[in-house]
Amino acid sequence: PTTRDVVIVGGGAGGIAVASSLLAREPSLAITLIEPRSEHYYQPGWTMVGGGVFDNNLTIRDEIRLIPAGVRWIRASAAGFEPQNNAVILEDGEKVLYKTLIVAAGLKLDWKAIPGLSETLGRNGVTSNYEPGLATYTWELVQRLKKGVALFTQPPMPIKCAGAPQKAMYLSCDYWRRSGCLNHINVEFNTAGNVLFGIPEYVPALDAYIDKYGIELGLGQNLVAIDGPGKTATFEMVFDDGTSITEDRHFDMIHVCPPQTAPDFVRSSPLSNEAGWVEVDPDTLQHVRYDNVYALGDVCSAPNAKTAAAVRTQAPIVATNILNAIHHSPERALYSGYGSCPLTVEKGKIVLAEFGYGGKIMPTLPFIDGTKPSRIAWLLKEKMLPWVYWNLMLKGREWLVKYETSETHRTARPVALLDKR
Ligand code: FAD
Repeated sequence: PTTRDVVIVGGGAGGIAVASSLLAREPSLAITLIEPRSEHYYQPGWTMVGGGVFDNNLTIRDEIRLIPAGVRWIRASAAGFEPQNNAVILEDGEKVLYKTLIVAAGLKLDWKAIPGLSETLGRNGVTSNYEPGLATYTWELVQRLKKGVALFTQPPMPIKCAGAPQKAMYLSCDYWRRSGCLNHINVEFNTAGNVLFGIPEYVPALDAYIDKYGIELGLGQNLVAIDGPGKTATFEMVFDDGTSITEDRHFDMIHVCPPQTAPDFVRSSPLSNEAGWVEVDPDTLQHVRYDNVYALGDVCSAPNAKTAAAVRTQAPIVATNILNAIHHSPERALYSGYGSCPLTVEKGKIVLAEFGYGGKIMPTLPFIDGTKPSRIAWLLKEKMLPWVYWNLMLKGREWLVKYETSETHRTARPVALLDKR
């Protein structure tokens, strides 16, 4: 096989955005994209599909239309990495050689971690906006439910778009409130976490909606099993002294957010950290052990909120750092950890969480106070952000993307891990 300049694994938000960012800067680069799917999903739209605002078709485009001209597409799954040989191994054993590798393979939705879940998903009132195509079933269930029990669950972190389980719930409650059924429906939010949302500045606004809709908030409650035909969900509660109990709850509908992990082929590769994610420097997104490897999006180990908004900032940073490394420039673009989570608290209003590393609040538009429900933020989500995704982010047009640069930054190398491998 011939060696390509840059090989990208994964053609979702991160893979396409970074390919475009690279070509916008250096059109002559030879790029290969490894991606098995023929469809590309705009996942942030699925909350709106589940709330009856968007048609699901708006969230799907043909991958081939999004891959920038000149990029070679290998329509296959990567099965492993041999970074010592600069090679990606495909499912059929074929090797793809690279000078620089970018991993953008997203994360794994671990449906099987909850016994009974995969068998009943999409039936028996069990739904999830996280599964491609299933947000339409969420909207069907919401419209059908007139009384009974509606459960919304959230697994332990990390998950992509940490606000999405709540968004599904608030939009459902808003529909039930407007149609006069909310008083006849017991709504519960069962989260494995100990807070409603990880960044305290946004919690008061969300708490107000928990009260307004009469939602029962169950903190520290982790979904561990589900019986679809029996309409029963089992939750585990762990106490401070380490003891735990399980409790069965009846439901008429349940929206499940599945546990999420690094993809298996990444987790088992030399690129991963202890937790399974591709181990990058959180500032430069360069691998900490293999200089010619980078990662962005949900698969990377950087402790930002796993969102498409994060990818929008990460893609130009990775592109800049790769090209500077190729051209022996010491300058590095540095990632602030920016990510964003537009919390759809009711139809027409959003609490727009935007923050970076350490929970630093990072508003993009100064006239939106993200800690308060806002109509402008809703218009942004409904009318602007899908356009921004398809026409700016995936095309390498970097409006309103901010990052700093440094000529002295050095990627930190964990010596112990280097010795171990
Ligand atoms: P993805 O876009 O998931 O792409 C990963 C790609 O890798 C896929 O195309 C996949 O097929 C490919 N792949 C997987 N395995 C392999 C393999 N073995 N070989 C080759 N390719 C492989 N973000 C926001 O910013 N705002 C929101 O409001 C928002 N809401 C969300 C709501 C929901 C319900 C969900 C599910 C997500 C939401 N997100 C939101 C998160 C956002 O969609 C993700 O963070 C973003 O898509 C991450 O981009 P990525 O490229 O890392 O992963």
